[in-house]
Amino acid sequence: MASSELAIQLAYVVAAAMFIYGLKLLGSADSARRGNMLSAIAMLLAIVSALLDQGIVEYQWILLGFVIGGATGGLVARQVKMTAIPEMVALFNGFGGLASLLVGTAALSTNPSTFTLVSIVLSILIGGLTFTGSLIAYGKLSETLSSGAVIFRGQQIVNSLLVLGIFASATMFCLEPGNIQWLFLVVTLSLLFGVMAVIPIGGADMPVVISLLNSYSGLAACAAGFAINNNILIVAGSLVGASGIILTQIMCKAMNRSLRNVLFSGFGSASDSSSEIEGEIKPISVEDGYYVLEAASNVAIIPGYGMAVAQAQHVVKELSELLEKNGAEVNFGIHPVAGRMPGHMNVLLAEADVPYDQLLEMDDINPRMETVDVAIVIGANDVVNPAARDMESSPIYGMPIINVDQARTVFVLKRSMASGFAGIENPLFYKENTRMLFGDAKESIARLVREFS
Ligand code: NDP
Repeated sequence: MASSELAIQLAYVVAAAMFIYGLKLLGSADSARRGNMLSAIAMLLAIVSALLDQGIVEYQWILLGFVIGGATGGLVARQVKMTAIPEMVALFNGFGGLASLLVGTAALSTNPSTFTLVSIVLSILIGGLTFTGSLIAYGKLSETLSSGAVIFRGQQIVNSLLVLGIFASATMFCLEPGNIQWLFLVVTLSLLFGVMAVIPIGGADMPVVISLLNSYSGLAACAAGFAINNNILIVAGSLVGASGIILTQIMCKAMNRSLRNVLFSGFGSASDSSSEIEGEIKPISVEDGYYVLEAASNVAIIPGYGMAVAQAQHVVKELSELLEKNGAEVNFGIHPVAGRMPGHMNVLLAEADVPYDQLLEMDDINPRMETVDVAIVIGANDVVNPAARDMESSPIYGMPIINVDQARTVFVLKRSMASGFAGIENPLFYKENTRMLFGDAKESIARLVREFS
């Protein structure tokens, strides 16, 4: 091996070790920033090493792609609103898939061996379905498409035929690589399958799909790594693929569902059970809310997507400090699928410097709920919906929730009676011990803070 080649392979090994250590650091809130930085440096090292590879004969196209891609990415990332980050992550996954598809296609010009040909086909088909699947996920998250499940008769048969078609055309292409029609068929069917696989997945199940697509984008990159014989792409792709699968499992556990059930059952498409809801809405003013909170000695704060929309995390932190000063014990209850991306609430509360030991996971806060004087629900809806626990006819029946209705009093902060992402009514709002504090969450909390101070 030439010494320059040895240096490149060594740089890849160092980058791979940095990726793995970076991932480890991402595992805790204190070290996550360092983990992110370390992984970014590792990526830079990997890219520079790949660019120095002797295989590259012309740099102008790479430079052009770098300038166009970098400028577009930089511009979009600067302009994106905090609340649109989950959609952007879905797009990142999608474009990762598209990149693998393109790399795989380009690798066809290298006169590939059978093994490389199989890798190429895998990178094309996984990349293709990740691309269109992620575009549908983007549409559902940004609510440009309905967030509900799209189900039609014979759907599973159509999907099975698509899978069969993909495998048949992929096999034919590997057997007859000169016959490019087979490749066109693989690409077309994979793109179609991405759409068909994601449309039947209902609102509340989207976290599972997002993590699965994330994993697919890694697997596609890994296959592309084999296709162009690039070790660091193989390692980085496997890391993304494996961590995506682990996250998928965590999300399935959080929803109390199996992956098979999520992918094939059309969860969230059952009819709404709103007709079974009894009780009446009892609004409360900020002033009255303050008197109740002032007397509380145990408060639980349950944030949801609305806290992200209102960007209320900083005033929430202020309120929690005032409550503590007033002698109350304050904890935050974090549901694993609250918000629109895994860890969404943890990120927001960490940004506001809420101490990590105040954040309790669903399984830790639920047993304490009966001792809580006031549970303040801030822009959460589906993750505190008791229908998931009590109403068998509910589309989200079986999904574990934070049992805020078991607290002595519940304050729900939201702007209207609108439903959450799953699009279903919430009986919590009609319960005897619930008071609705209508308005933008940031404004309502800022007013409560003013009452305290
Ligand atoms: P929901 O989507 O169920 O509810 C959010 C609530 O916030 C809405 O009812 C809305 O009511 C309220 N809201 C919006 N803006 C404001 C504001 N400015 N001030 C006050 N309230 C506001 O959120 P949850 O966090 O409870 O549940 C998350 C849902 O998203 C689950 O169904 C989950 O499965 C799904 N999901 C989660 C993902 C993840 O990875 N975490 C990914 C994709 C989907 P109103 O309009 O009346 O104010």
